[in-house]
Amino acid sequence: SRDTIYRVLVTPLAGEGVSLAFEDMSEIEQAHAMRRDFVANVSHELRTPLTALLGFIETLKGAARDDPAARLRFLTIMEREATRMNRLIADLLSLGKVEAEERVRPSQRVDVVGLAQGAVATLRGVAAAGGVDLALTAPERVEVPADADQITQVLQNLIENAIKYGGAGKRVDIEIVRTDVAALGGPAVRISVTDFGEGIAAIHLPRLTERFYRADDHRSREKGGTGLGLAIVKHIVQRHRGRLKIESEKGKGSRFTVLLPAG
Ligand code: ADP
Repeated sequence: SRDTIYRVLVTPLAGEGVSLAFEDMSEIEQAHAMRRDFVANVSHELRTPLTALLGFIETLKGAARDDPAARLRFLTIMEREATRMNRLIADLLSLGKVEAEERVRPSQRVDVVGLAQGAVATLRGVAAAGGVDLALTAPERVEVPADADQITQVLQNLIENAIKYGGAGKRVDIEIVRTDVAALGGPAVRISVTDFGEGIAAIHLPRLTERFYRADDHRSREKGGTGLGLAIVKHIVQRHRGRLKIESEKGKGSRFTVLLPAG
């Protein structure tokens, strides 16, 4: 276990003696360290595609100048790298927004089934391109107090991951069920996204929602991942006073379950 460092604030009392206040510095230090890590990660994640772009620009100005086939090939890679930077910035902005709003509980009621139908419609094409079939099972309507855009983002991130890591030619099941969860104060909705793909080794599960944590760094990058999707999901679910559960078995598949209070 680590040492605990305290900052002691000493205030003289009227008359005799002093009052002592102890502040746990290890927690403050930890928060500072996390922020430093985050800035270092962001810089690294942005610099990698930028370095590639600058390299290809040099090549296009020089060696590849008079070779149309090479030019097209390099431009295609440049487009992919620029797209990656764009996605990273979009994810950083979303994350910043949901972290800032975490204490504000959404008050509007929205139908999660409609949102899930929308997310499935949006991703049906991407899924089909990967040979993946999306299957939604849900009641007609389930209303919960929620931010519609944010719940759509949760659904899209989870379904996108299931498509990305779920393996070609397989199915992704999206299920919505009305339920009752005492810990959430009664009526709730359970949203689960299940894939039958590569699965995640147990050692990674506790850290999966950390910013930039990837179970398989190479694979995530190859698939165009930013490493922020599940961190965004976690913060949105927290903001809705819900729960996120991740179950997975290596080689069999994964299930991501979101519970949201419906009352
Ligand atoms: P990424 O942009 O890398 O997909 P996420 O935050 O969405 O970032 O996910 C973090 C990591 O969790 C991924 O890099 C991947 O290793 C793992 N992961 C997420 N969803 C799945 C899934 N359905 N199956 C297997 N691994 C997954």
